[in-house]
Amino acid sequence: MLINRPRGTNDILPGDVERWHLIEQTAREVCRRFNVAEVRTPIFEHTELFARGVGETTDIVEKEMYTFQDRGERSLTLRPEGTASVVRSFVESKLYAQPQPTKLYYMGPMFRYERPQSGRYRQFHQFGAEVLGVNDPSIDAEVIALAMTFFTELGLTDISLEINSVGSAQSRTAYRDILREHLSPVKEQLCKDCQSRYDRNPMRILDCKNETCKELTQGAPEMLDHLSEEDRTHFQAVCSYLESFGIPFTVNPRMVRGLDYYTQTAFEFIENGSTLSGGGRYNGLVEQLGGPEMPGIGFAVGIERVMIALANQNVELPIAKGIDIFFVALGEAAQKHSVKLLHEMRRAGLIADKDYLGKSMKAQMKAADRLKARQVVILGDDELAQGVANLKDMETGEQTTVALSELIEVVQSKR
Ligand code: AMP
Repeated sequence: MLINRPRGTNDILPGDVERWHLIEQTAREVCRRFNVAEVRTPIFEHTELFARGVGETTDIVEKEMYTFQDRGERSLTLRPEGTASVVRSFVESKLYAQPQPTKLYYMGPMFRYERPQSGRYRQFHQFGAEVLGVNDPSIDAEVIALAMTFFTELGLTDISLEINSVGSAQSRTAYRDILREHLSPVKEQLCKDCQSRYDRNPMRILDCKNETCKELTQGAPEMLDHLSEEDRTHFQAVCSYLESFGIPFTVNPRMVRGLDYYTQTAFEFIENGSTLSGGGRYNGLVEQLGGPEMPGIGFAVGIERVMIALANQNVELPIAKGIDIFFVALGEAAQKHSVKLLHEMRRAGLIADKDYLGKSMKAQMKAADRLKARQVVILGDDELAQGVANLKDMETGEQTTVALSELIEVVQSKR
């Protein structure tokens, strides 16, 4: 009986995995430039962390978590996102006591019980960055610039950036009441989800995809018109920093991110109608997770969505292909000796391989072609007895006889 992978998960096979490596390497390099250090947190956490950190009323916590009891009857959850864990770790390790800001990035699998479709999986991967401890609007712009640099370094061009301010906790409370009042005459006509959002989180009604809800909320008061003076100044500063960086953006006053912890700046990167990345400021989160009052801002990029965007935009990633050297060994003694030579080559830093099935010369040459070997060593028992081998340059077809004692050096020089 065949056992398949669980629904909504993917195997990343050779051929694809090299593209993943390149994307991950680009993320690491860009973070290095922005002086952002990696943090690795557990794949599972206490369920309470996400309930408190992501928010009880979010879709993630309400319906999407992979929650289980371990053998000690603790409730644990496979992480559905990265920010709560990074902030937990920041608090637990007392990184807040160090000079600020603390700039961290993470990369790895996340788990959400969603209905699988293209670009939506139950195990997916995110790269994200968080900057904690500084509230200056230049940091907001830098975090957005980091994500943008990652996209442009990969060769993605047609990506739009939308930003908004969802206000500080105080201005939002007042705005929520205004919004509820405005929507109260049409409350019963909203979709079921929005009816329950009405009491708990009415701002999310503004970003409902349901056509009726879209129509009913036309002309609704917008958060941007109800910001405090401080929020407004902050938002304007973020916008002008982005302008000074030459990063184009549009203000989307209806954008409300799906996570509860955002305050002030919220942003999304969109490609071909799909959200590649979302993020924002979360000034209450450190405190909410038991730390001191400290601001923070971050984003997360979905790597699978980046893959889709690369395909949409026909971006060919510069993947290194092929191997340096392939051994074609003929005869028993040559076969045996080639194993040792192969090992020496690898120790010398060459990418080297051979045939293990005792195939014919023709079949071995075919294998060398398939592996895109740049050079091939042809070694028979006679050559071995004379202490030489034939070296074939697969690009030019040129063949030379080389002393075995000089083989590695010659291969390296022709690499
Ligand atoms: P979020 O943490 O919900 O703000 O999502 C950030 C990014 O992660 C999104 O913009 C997507 O690119 C990606 N993402 C979120 N959920 C999924 C999923 N179920 N499958 C694939 N990618 C996802």
